[in-house]
Amino acid sequence: MDCIKIKNLEIFANHGVFKEEKSLGQKFLLSLSVYYSQSKAAKTDDLNYSINYGELCFEIIERYKKEKFDLIETSCLDIIKFIFEKYKIVEQVDLEVKKPWAPVHTGVDMISIKMSRKRRNFYIGIGTNIGDKEENIKEAIDLMKENGIDIVKESGLLKNKAWGKTDQDDFINKIVIGSSYEDPDDLLRILNKIEDEMGRKRIEKWGPRIIDLDILFVDYEKIYTERLIVPHPYIQEREFILEQLVEIAPHFVHPVLNKSVRVLYDELREKELK
Ligand code: ATP
Ligand code: CA
Ligand code: CA
Repeated sequence: MDCIKIKNLEIFANHGVFKEEKSLGQKFLLSLSVYYSQSKAAKTDDLNYSINYGELCFEIIERYKKEKFDLIETSCLDIIKFIFEKYKIVEQVDLEVKKPWAPVHTGVDMISIKMSRKRRNFYIGIGTNIGDKEENIKEAIDLMKENGIDIVKESGLLKNKAWGKTDQDDFINKIVIGSSYEDPDDLLRILNKIEDEMGRKRIEKWGPRIIDLDILFVDYEKIYTERLIVPHPYIQEREFILEQLVEIAPHFVHPVLNKSVRVLYDELREKELK
């Protein structure tokens, strides 16, 4: 992919665990690759479709000097977030932060860390069956935006009978595609935080809930960890999810089942009619 590279941008700043590092400051060297499509800029010769690297360097210097973090990891992620939030065309940022004067009492040239984040599309299923359901969905989407998730596309609202545990009030469901530079695990943490803030109580499996935020797909990635399974394991069994996926992304191919959501929807309908 196309990218701009900046190598060893020198910044005098005050990050570090030791109090001397915070009070005296030291030299940091930042090297970064910022990925974005350069086709439009190359064809039009128009700076508006590009990233002004001079401006970017000054913005990074200003931002890096502003805070005093203990860890270079925190300082690194802060710069990455800043770039994604300011430049919406950016797809990926790789950043290396070098600390040539790191306080290590032995011979060492340089301490450095590298971090990389990329923009992904997250398909997020929203469900609610307590209180003012439409208002709950609106609030959840507002909170996603406040947490840096850009909403790219959204389905309509769909009223559904409860799935799995049927003796409860009807649900209202919606699916949004959100674009975010957060790692999937961090994005799940953000969604869980929003559920908690909105008062979600986890009393019984598949029980009533004020808000439920599930990650259905993350681009075409497959993730299997203790906390997160993607694609969401029940997509192909839930008609309400498939119906709304067909509405917003009918040709999206399920990366494990290798079938489009339209085909999965038709297959489930057929099975249910038998
Ligand atoms: P279901 O996942 O069958 O729709 P649920 O939404 O009621 O059930 P929760 O109680 O909301 O389940 O979540 C239980 C756990 O599922 C969470 O703590 C989370 O770590 C885990 N989980 C695994 N994969 C996902 C995913 N793709 N999206 C959201 N949570 C997930
Ligand atoms: Ca769920
Ligand atoms: Ca859930």
